[in-house]
Amino acid sequence: MSYQRPKGTADILPGQSALWQHVEAIAKRIMESYQYREIRTPLFENYDVFARSSGETSDVVSKEMYTFADKGGRQMALRPEGTAGVVRAYVENKLYGPDHEKPYKVYYMGPMYRYERPQSGRQREFHQIGVEAFGVDSPALDAEVIALAKDLLEALGAKHLKFAINTLGDPASRAAYHQALVAFLTPFQAQLSADSKVRLEKNPLRILDSKDKGDQAIVAGAPKILDYLTPEATAHFEAVQGFLKALGIPYEIDADMVRGLDYYNHTIFEVMSDDAVFGGGYTTVLAGGRYNGLVEELGGPQTPGVGFAMGVERAMLLLSGQAIETALPAYIVTIGEAAQAAALRLAHALRRQGVAVDMDFQGRKPKAQFKSANKANAQLVMTLGDSELASATVQVKNMQTGVQKEFKQAAVAEDFRALAAQLEADHE
Ligand code: ATP
Ligand code: MG
Repeated sequence: MSYQRPKGTADILPGQSALWQHVEAIAKRIMESYQYREIRTPLFENYDVFARSSGETSDVVSKEMYTFADKGGRQMALRPEGTAGVVRAYVENKLYGPDHEKPYKVYYMGPMYRYERPQSGRQREFHQIGVEAFGVDSPALDAEVIALAKDLLEALGAKHLKFAINTLGDPASRAAYHQALVAFLTPFQAQLSADSKVRLEKNPLRILDSKDKGDQAIVAGAPKILDYLTPEATAHFEAVQGFLKALGIPYEIDADMVRGLDYYNHTIFEVMSDDAVFGGGYTTVLAGGRYNGLVEELGGPQTPGVGFAMGVERAMLLLSGQAIETALPAYIVTIGEAAQAAALRLAHALRRQGVAVDMDFQGRKPKAQFKSANKANAQLVMTLGDSELASATVQVKNMQTGVQKEFKQAAVAEDFRALAAQLEADHE
């Protein structure tokens, strides 16, 4: 019997976690510069939270969600995306109240779960970094969110990005479009895929998002939502475009884009990359939009919202050429068993000063220890042998300059950084 990780999951080992921390640190810095603060919500929620928000007929809810009954018989689901849980928390904690700034801006980072066919950039446990901004309907906020998406991806080193935007309008626009779409699609009913036959009944807009080639051919001739917008919806969309132009963000309008989740209205967008790592063609790395009805849907007061989610694994593919350089400030080489106690004491003192340090625990020859120090990219190597023990000293060598000097162990234990600076100065 051998144990393997579940299909579609990954072990992020120490060699890769440095890159993850790098991505998360950059994301945190950028999102905080836009005044977003972190929110952490449960990895599982009541099934209804997702069914009500993402939509019962969306692929995410109907096909991809990990659902289970807990021992108390409650229907639960692992979160397939971040927004629903954040909106649930927003309502439950009354974050719409008068004590809170508008827009109320939060970000999250963490794992999401979807039962999908695993392939490059598509897993069953994957990670998203996302933002949500509540309480403001202004198109300027839509544009700011898109600018944040751009800054984020560019800070991560992404190039050749394509920004596709569309609008799903307001409820009145959508109702008019719904009618036109059903009128157009009904004559094709027999030719639609099995899924889309159901969608035609329950949620015809979903058909625009079908992955079925036959459906896509039919949909190509369908009416466009842009022709059914109310004047208000048109004004919102035009204002967003005006702000994007003011920000110098190039974009394309993709009139067929609907997004995979039901809760969007007005502005929706996707950021795509045709980087060679994706194996040809454009892949969506980040997607989002406005969801003005969602807070109400989950039991809160009428509150507009807008946000996006970035797929971290896909963003990391864009970075795969980048190596993260790490350095270890100090390594202690011991010569003989007698030096162990002094080395442990010295290491302890350095760590109390906030200095990262490593040493040998296997009684290896100094040569092997020096090799470990090099591998860890140690900046300073300290050596403790019999003569150092006798005089309570330690040899300290700056590996970059080659300058070596003897110091009192007590002095190193007192202020390591001062001695390191002294060695540096000796070189100059
Ligand atoms: P796709 O069309 O690729 O399935 P989606 O529309 O389902 O994407 P969203 O729900 O909008 O994706 O999620 C936003 C981002 O999260 C995607 O653009 C992608 O980068 C990432 N993502 C979604 N599903 C997965 C997955 N199974 N594995 C890895 N990343 C994913
Ligand atoms: Mg999907």
